[in-house]
Amino acid sequence: MTMKRAVRFLVAVTIAAAVAPMPNPSAQSPQATQAAQAAGERWETAFRALPAPANIRAYAEHLSARPHHVGSPYDRDNAEWILARFKEWGWDATIERFDVLFPTPKTRLLEMVTPTRFVAKLDEPALAVDPTSSQKTEQLPTYNAYSTDGDVTAPLVYVNYGRPADYEDLERLGVTVKGAIVIARYGASWRGIKPKVAAEHGAVGCLIYSDPRDDGYFGGQVFPEGPMRPSDGVQRGSVLDMPVHPGDPLTPGVGATPGAKRLARADAATITRIPVLPISYGDAQPLLAALGGPVAPVAWRGALPITYRIGAGPATVHLKLEFNWNMAPLYDVIARLPGSTYPDEWVIRGNHHDAWVNGAGDPVSGMSAELEEARALGELRRQGWQPKRTIVYAAWDGEEPALLGSTEWVETHAADLEAHAVAYINTDGNGRGFLDMGGSHTLEPFINGVARAVEDPEAHVSAWKRLQAATIARGTPDERREARARGDLRLDALGSGSDFTPFLQHSGVPTLNLAYGGEDSNGIYHSIYDDFYHFTHFEDADFAYARLAAQTVGMAVIRLADADLLPFDFTSLADTVKKYVDDVEALLKGRQDEVRESNRQIEEGVFAATRDPRRPTVAPAAEPVPPALNFAPLENASAALTAAAEGYRKALAGASAQLAGNTAVVRAVNAMLMQSERQLLDPAGLPQREWYRHLLYAPGFYTGYDVKTLPGVREGIEQKQYEAADAEIARAAKVLARETALIDAAAAELRRLGPPVR
Ligand SMILES: [Zn+2]
Repeated sequence: MTMKRAVRFLVAVTIAAAVAPMPNPSAQSPQATQAAQAAGERWETAFRALPAPANIRAYAEHLSARPHHVGSPYDRDNAEWILARFKEWGWDATIERFDVLFPTPKTRLLEMVTPTRFVAKLDEPALAVDPTSSQKTEQLPTYNAYSTDGDVTAPLVYVNYGRPADYEDLERLGVTVKGAIVIARYGASWRGIKPKVAAEHGAVGCLIYSDPRDDGYFGGQVFPEGPMRPSDGVQRGSVLDMPVHPGDPLTPGVGATPGAKRLARADAATITRIPVLPISYGDAQPLLAALGGPVAPVAWRGALPITYRIGAGPATVHLKLEFNWNMAPLYDVIARLPGSTYPDEWVIRGNHHDAWVNGAGDPVSGMSAELEEARALGELRRQGWQPKRTIVYAAWDGEEPALLGSTEWVETHAADLEAHAVAYINTDGNGRGFLDMGGSHTLEPFINGVARAVEDPEAHVSAWKRLQAATIARGTPDERREARARGDLRLDALGSGSDFTPFLQHSGVPTLNLAYGGEDSNGIYHSIYDDFYHFTHFEDADFAYARLAAQTVGMAVIRLADADLLPFDFTSLADTVKKYVDDVEALLKGRQDEVRESNRQIEEGVFAATRDPRRPTVAPAAEPVPPALNFAPLENASAALTAAAEGYRKALAGASAQLAGNTAVVRAVNAMLMQSERQLLDPAGLPQREWYRHLLYAPGFYTGYDVKTLPGVREGIEQKQYEAADAEIARAAKVLARETALIDAAAAELRRLGPPVR
């Protein structure tokens, strides 16, 4: 995990007004107001003391005791066990079931047929010291879910990480993958991008292997002596085209309920076009060693003791894959605590419970912390606390194959979420180290406030202070300056890779994604070795950071549930939007400069004068310089948003003393605030992928997990579709104008209370 955060200025008064527990609306006297505030703080203090590492350890050991992928017996057992815990702790809990397409392997064959014969093992062996690694009959074999069936024999080509830029390098080297099977290494892009881009370039099959440079012996001792990936370790994982849409491939946009209209499998847009299989570096090494052709560029070389070559051939491989294309049940556990004052406003929080195998790290480390939060909130309630808003806790099934459980739930409850959702907080795996905060920028000051209120178990400063220090120590000069000078640390924008995606990018629910991590590296991701033995030897072994995660997220839930006026801030949003607008303008200018320089070099004969005739490469072609785009609509919309945000901040400062006695105004403003993230959606969706409706944040069409901010505009420029980019500028400006109008209306409502402010 790399640190890449930045910070910016924020006016302190907004934080105080928005985040401090708001007075009870029924309390009229200042004394009563103070008492209500003290009560709020007392509950928070009581809550922070409750999470216990020993409990979290016990949940983790239970949930990871056996393999529990979608459709397995222990997946269902875990769902029922989680349901029983919620009920025991006083929650109103139920299981919601959906039925989805979930392929499992029937035939997996990979062999080299020339120049020598080699049959890949495709097996992770049990290890004597690791008790759950021998649960063979329940383990899913190593495979990539939603690969298509296929039986292909073809020459092999090494494509580095298999990103679009790697294929540009291949073209310059005169290597084509047309009709070939490619072998890509894991890393640098989400795995589903690799077969997608390979197929676009004409490849007929795709292998993905874990190079020891990326998570094997290059980084430390391998398991079981150390945490890194052993030679037979394999990363399972989904290759569904999730940048098009996540969820059941047969029910895009609607819940996979019994009566739902389902596509035929042949019509599903998100299943891969070519067969794809993940392999270990033990299986990859003989294949890579048998490649001829040019020596791979320096940046393409991994840590295997071979000369990395590109091919194509002489290695020829035979890949045969067949899957059982069966339906599988999903068991989402949904638990509620009813709100006392605003029962129709929901604070939602979730983590997934399914794993590829035992999943002690992914997802059980996060799921166990969520359970301890739920126990502690139940305990507070037993002591007399009642949340003002309704709290909804979810344990999602089927995250690993395709964010299935969260996506189907969001699609099924779309109308409820539109009317009731205040915010969604997601976690997934959790480890030792620094707080990783991503999400909606309207929640940036809010979550900074929470991070200031919890203590790091190793450094004994607040989680916020530790993150600030890490940003100063590791950031760029700009990030360092911001981390020192500004009140709040910046939130990362969210791409994809966990269950927040349907909430934020499909339904416009303000979202946070939180995790601790960054101190331990490992090489057991999505393998049979991600288990309780590994976790308790090489990761958060004493569950101190799982406890901190429970404290952090639980406090965020309590504050969101109990604040009378919702703690949304628009100056953070406006500042972030301005930055994104500057970014896309800089992107276009950078592209123009690059093309001009390249064209000039072609004219000057630079390529012809420097080429090595013994190692021929293909001459670059001249390109048209990208045209100027009119960014004025975005710049104007961004400026108007900034002004509206400032107006809201002033109106709030003016009104804050009188909010307590004015329930009607609080409710009216909240009703508007709840719709603020929704304004950033366009129902028409993004180009080529209408499921993604948020015009500020989306996963990249060619990166998979990594975010693209102002995605329509940015990807239009990146993909050289300049007319489309122009249209996207106008669309983004329009949703920002809608957001601005809503903020103005909320400020006007507040101004009815406050003294006139300049
Ligand atoms: Zn996960």
